[in-house]
Amino acid sequence: MPRVPECPSCGGRDVRRTRREGLTERLLSIIYMYPFRCDRCRCRYRAMRWGRRYTKRVPA
Ligand SMILES: [Zn+2]
Repeated sequence: MPRVPECPSCGGRDVRRTRREGLTERLLSIIYMYPFRCDRCRCRYRAMRWGRRYTKRVPA
């Protein structure tokens, strides 16, 4: 099982979670959708990380 969702653009696994921006991504994090950034092609995307909580802050 991959630890991180692979990049939809280049298929790379060198991705890291990036900070959430705006209300939309705050809301998406509630349903386990998190923004990621690919280190290889620099694209930004969102992926479902079901059951995984990255945030330490409780959503309002
Ligand atoms: Zn990529």
